Amino acid sequence: MKYILALDQGTTSTRAHIYDKRGECVCGYQLEFPQIYPNPGWVEHSPADIWNSVRSAAELALKGANLSAADIAAVGVTNQRETTIVWDRLTGEPVYNAIVWQCRRTADYCKKLVRDGFSERIYNKTGLIPDAYFSATKIKWILDNVEGARARAERGELCFGTVDTYLLYKLSGGKIFATDYTNAARTMIFNIHTLNWDSELLRLFDIPSCMLPKVYPSSHDFGEIELEQLKGVHVFSMVGDQQGSLFGQGCFEAGDIKNTYGTGCFLLMNTGSSPVKSENGLLTTLGATAGDKPCYVLEGSVFVGGAVVQWLRDGLGLIKTAEESESAALRAKDSGGVYVVPAFTGLGAPYWDAAARGTVTGITRGTTRDQIIRASLEGIAYQVYDVVKAMEKDAGISITRLSVDGGASANAFLMQFQSDILSAQVVRSKSGESTVLGAAYLAGLGSGYWKGVEEISGNAAYSTFFTPKMSAERRINLLNGWHSAVSKALYKC
Ligand code: ADP
Repeated sequence: MKYILALDQGTTSTRAHIYDKRGECVCGYQLEFPQIYPNPGWVEHSPADIWNSVRSAAELALKGANLSAADIAAVGVTNQRETTIVWDRLTGEPVYNAIVWQCRRTADYCKKLVRDGFSERIYNKTGLIPDAYFSATKIKWILDNVEGARARAERGELCFGTVDTYLLYKLSGGKIFATDYTNAARTMIFNIHTLNWDSELLRLFDIPSCMLPKVYPSSHDFGEIELEQLKGVHVFSMVGDQQGSLFGQGCFEAGDIKNTYGTGCFLLMNTGSSPVKSENGLLTTLGATAGDKPCYVLEGSVFVGGAVVQWLRDGLGLIKTAEESESAALRAKDSGGVYVVPAFTGLGAPYWDAAARGTVTGITRGTTRDQIIRASLEGIAYQVYDVVKAMEKDAGISITRLSVDGGASANAFLMQFQSDILSAQVVRSKSGESTVLGAAYLAGLGSGYWKGVEEISGNAAYSTFFTPKMSAERRINLLNGWHSAVSKALYKC
């Protein structure tokens, strides 16, 4: 019996999971690695730390499961998206640290792009709204600021890659230089309609095309691994983490949607074979499929999700642990007309007000601690509701079910309230590890380990279903109250 090894290289840690034919994880390891903050707002990783964490996690997982390379049918890779590495094609030596997606060093340049009227052009080609998150301006920063880098890049001596590409290069002993559609789509130099690097955008950002990897479908034979512990095994998938989670949640059809409740929330909706242009400031991007063509996806995020629970714990001291928020919310019975709009850093889709600030409304002399906690959790669900509605409007699709994962999805009160407010079923997958599972599915499908998505749909052992129980009248009243609270949080008002 053979297994699939999936590697998940995340922002703060790296996981290696080994799956059997039933999609069960037989062994998993997680290793944290250092974050580097050289200046306020700047975030970097050492590429060597990233690589060492991947190598060690894979080794530990193989050891833990008592397996060797001969037992592994295929390797899958999923990764933090947009993070940018530039390295020497021959030696593999990075010319600078990895610039992490969160890093704001190119924010002013991005603002200038918007002021100069490039937003629509960039959106029409890449589906992205100019922002420092995406790789393009990070590559430009390295070429402009590292001595000699631009000349070396123009001579074809340097490679650019997102983390997947760098890992593939390292795994293959420097022989393979490639990425997949979902990662390329987050660089802001990839045309999601033609599925090619875009020469006009490369000129705009002054990036030589010779430093770019080849782009393939997410489920594909990317080539053979040279690393001793996995020698001879092929990498059969590469996929950005959010798209990995969408696939791991079994969202294979147009209209399928998932939300990850982490520090912030990441919502992705599969919109099928054609791109949907957003009128609500959502991103249009590429998702993974088991076939040759990617699917299109609408993506929206909530800046403050589980972070509001951290604020209750660390900022206000109302709870000692995140888990306590659930019992407090249930004790409260209802929020007593209190709304917490956690717009700590502004509000994203569909409001797009960077100057909005956190607001609590409806407090009376009788308001209790438990009600504030409950209203804070409800505030997460309302924000998710707003993004889902924006997606439904853009895509012309009504959802009946939301697949969920992430740390705060453990909160059963939050999940039930989400289901009530959306008037849709919320499905929490058993594994809670849908990102790494998505990479495993794509690798297993690409290598023929699994025959088709029907086989893995059967594997997707969902453990918990939350079904709407709230009356329509109460739901509408609560939503009216929420939208009134949001209007008070907006700076524009
Ligand atoms: P990230 O990947 O962004 O670090 P995780 O998926 O690990 O996030 O989730 C962590 C977040 O989930 C934290 O913000 C934490 O406050 C929140 N969280 C964790 N457990 C619970 C819980 N039981 N109820 C509510 N929020 C929770």
